[in-house]
Amino acid sequence: MKRRQFLSLAPAAGLATLPATFARAHDAAPHSLPQAQRRAVGDITVTALSDGGIALGHGLLQGISEDDYAAILTAAYRNPAGFLSGVNAFLIETGDLKILVDAGTGGAFGPEIDNLPANLAATGTAPGDITHLFATHLHPDHVGGAVRDGMAVFPNAELVVHDADRAFWGTPENFTAMPEMMQNFAAMAQGVLAAYGDRLRTFDAEAEIAPGLTTLPLPGHTPGHSGLMVASGDAALLIWADIVHVAPVQLARPAVTIGFDVEPALAASTRAALLDRVATDRLMIAGSHIGFPGLATIARAGDGYAAIPAPFDYGAA
Ligand SMILES: [Zn+2]
Repeated sequence: MKRRQFLSLAPAAGLATLPATFARAHDAAPHSLPQAQRRAVGDITVTALSDGGIALGHGLLQGISEDDYAAILTAAYRNPAGFLSGVNAFLIETGDLKILVDAGTGGAFGPEIDNLPANLAATGTAPGDITHLFATHLHPDHVGGAVRDGMAVFPNAELVVHDADRAFWGTPENFTAMPEMMQNFAAMAQGVLAAYGDRLRTFDAEAEIAPGLTTLPLPGHTPGHSGLMVASGDAALLIWADIVHVAPVQLARPAVTIGFDVEPALAASTRAALLDRVATDRLMIAGSHIGFPGLATIARAGDGYAAIPAPFDYGAA
């Protein structure tokens, strides 16, 4: 019923032929201006990097009428008929470490969303400089860019991922009875796991992966979906990954789920609990799918929440 719209995210050159994209040479034109924005979190620097914008529509969501969807987006001054969400990654620099949080699509959703390599290069960072690739989860918009031509894009990086995502996506037998899209997602994840081989580090709870960087399992969207808390001195930022995909709608209505959720009910309860926490703590968050640069604090609004965009950090720019 919603399958056609579901697959509208997968243009002919994209997910439908996902394994073939491994062989595609990277030929995306660089932007004339970089889409990268730096922010200081105490002594740690976090740089938001855009991979591009992705169209998401009502047909992907569950738990909201089309009229309510349109009303919420219209009230947020967005076009309900053409909502564009962001695809963001984040570079964390602390001491000698350069931790990339997610690797973009790598062209898995078509060549028009594959801007992370150019934006990372604009920060003066080469792929070989990345010491850790923290994958919030193993969906193709987060690890598609970790591999090209079957090779690890980040040759010196340790791949850090929740063990539940490694186990779920890394087991082909889990997908034999699933739709083609899920099989394509799994094939890409397995290609990433194979490319990084022994350079894999897993965790299964809150774990400090580097000084000031602590994983935060946020299960539901995928079994091992995880955020990363960045803390230095009195400053903190939570990279919350895919807690929302259509931000105005899922902040106003946290019970609304998306067709990519592996366990929708758990994703919704995880979202509700985390929104309450970050609103109470006034904790700044960074979202994979909040419009670039994806940085905000979360305020209570009516029965739900709203995002207050973070002020630009002039000192870190
Ligand atoms: Zn995502």
